[in-house]
Amino acid sequence: MMSRTVGIDLGTTNSEVAIVEDGQARVLPGEDGDLILPSCVGFSNTGKVVVGREALRQYAAAPERTVRSIKRWMGTDHKTTLPIEGTDSDKTRDFLPHEISAMILRALKQRAETALREEVTQAVITVPAYFTDAQRQATKTAGEIAGLEVLQIINEPTAAALAYDVRSDETEQVLVYDLGGGTFDVSVVEITGEITEVLASHGNNQLGGDDFDRRLQLHLAEQFRQTHGVAVPDDPATQARLLRTAEQIKIALSSHAFAPVREAFLGSKGNTSLHLETEVARSDLEELIRPLLEQTLEAIDRALSDAKLQPDELDRIILVGGSTRIPLVQQMVEEHLGQTPVDGVQPDLCVALGAALQAGVLVGEEVEAILVDVIPHSLGISAAVSTPMGILPGVFSVIIPRNSVVPVSRSEVYSTLSPNQTAVEIEIFQGENEMAEENVPLGSYRVEGLPPGPAGSIQIEVHFDFDLNGILTVTTTEKGEGQQGTLVVNHAGIQRLSSHELKQARADLEALFEADETIPVIAKDREDIQLAPELAALIERAQQMLQILEDKQVEDLQALLDQLENALAEGETTTVSALQEELSDFLYYASTNTPGNT
Ligand code: AMP
Repeated sequence: MMSRTVGIDLGTTNSEVAIVEDGQARVLPGEDGDLILPSCVGFSNTGKVVVGREALRQYAAAPERTVRSIKRWMGTDHKTTLPIEGTDSDKTRDFLPHEISAMILRALKQRAETALREEVTQAVITVPAYFTDAQRQATKTAGEIAGLEVLQIINEPTAAALAYDVRSDETEQVLVYDLGGGTFDVSVVEITGEITEVLASHGNNQLGGDDFDRRLQLHLAEQFRQTHGVAVPDDPATQARLLRTAEQIKIALSSHAFAPVREAFLGSKGNTSLHLETEVARSDLEELIRPLLEQTLEAIDRALSDAKLQPDELDRIILVGGSTRIPLVQQMVEEHLGQTPVDGVQPDLCVALGAALQAGVLVGEEVEAILVDVIPHSLGISAAVSTPMGILPGVFSVIIPRNSVVPVSRSEVYSTLSPNQTAVEIEIFQGENEMAEENVPLGSYRVEGLPPGPAGSIQIEVHFDFDLNGILTVTTTEKGEGQQGTLVVNHAGIQRLSSHELKQARADLEALFEADETIPVIAKDREDIQLAPELAALIERAQQMLQILEDKQVEDLQALLDQLENALAEGETTTVSALQEELSDFLYYASTNTPGNT
């Protein structure tokens, strides 16, 4: 029987192995169920080779026996000296970068063989677009040492594009923005059918999620110092613990607006143990990492200028790498390029999946587009929002937009409407109507016992977590005292689309919104609430006209404005549209008859 062919993403921080089965690509898990293998290698204190999470765990305590980020040295003769017989012996051996990489590849080969219960002998391995011949050759040699026939070395951005099914006959220009743990690359590739050309590639191989962790670690250490008046102990174990906490907080803040930090016994003062107890807001993290992200935008500009392309000539933007899960990253790239990046494939698995698809094509398997599960209807809650016309209740505030790829977690922050409000009703709906009541109710619950305070002072985070089985878990947390409520909805539904279908579905939805100019509100949090710009401008003009019109007209205009305010408050969108038109006509005729215009 033929042995299997896999696709491998051999990354600086993490690596993955994937396979095509029945036309579908999937990443293979390790025995611990983890799809990601940290690209970390070491020798244990008994001289045993350890790879992956186990090696990463020993890194803080035994850096002299552990190697990380070997990919940075590929193609050079940089030597790493490691003790190979454990701590009882002085015996060491020098390893070249490709020999260390071979240990990672061997672990991935083994992982695939265990998962498939079959021998794996052939692989497609990915490398950064800017890798030189020497670096590519070193990668190939590493594969061969690990017992793999390397069918092809392909570029990471190309693999990412393959995962996104960019294989139409028309030429597409694709920008791949790859922000991982330790490196950042941006590539502009041109794809026509099976042919991919890298037009430009830039980056910074010392920038990534690890830097965000370190900035947050310093921020946490400073909070500890301010609270207790002493610094966090400087020993490697404590600092490593703080760094790990920082990474966990960073990851939590990708889907939560706030994250509590509780690290017991982080230090001591005399005989007293000191704990770190604080909270980090997403905005705090954003402030820490924004300057680093701005550098990535400069690299985008350089890559585009090398490729001689304007941002609006790009057909797609693809985000790759675990750090692109950070909402600010998505937002800054989108604002900078004026185009929403495509999503659908998990950013840290996308390269491995693309490599597997390529491996499948090379050995003549039927390969289909990667299918993704999406949410067919937007999910959100009913909220009151303040508009220039007053408070508007019952607005549908979307938390997870339609067509989001599952699993997905999102939060929004709301605040109390009245002074000393003690409870809030969380009503969950699914649908696309801007008024909550017009959508399908999924359930509701009350959060009681809110602390007293002026209107708007109590903040409540509403968190939606939608899993692969279509189960929606809603959690509400009152920020100050942590008052919580939860509701689980079991049948919120999933739809399966290919990346092409997803792109089309999103374009259709956008077109709908462009056509419908009468949407009265944009509901996010209270500060961002506005009337649709046209309606707001109309109302402003009407208010100016009130100053200059004659009495009878003032009365008529005021009546019209009152009706409009009512309709907005009741959420009667059809009436709002009709009144908007009436108001517009009124102003047109009134202005042609006012003194200054005759
Ligand atoms: P990669 O090298 O692509 O596997 O990316 C690894 C980096 O992504 C690490 O710095 C992780 O901390 C980071 N990362 C993974 N998941 C998330 C997340 N949900 N939010 C923010 N960063 C993440």
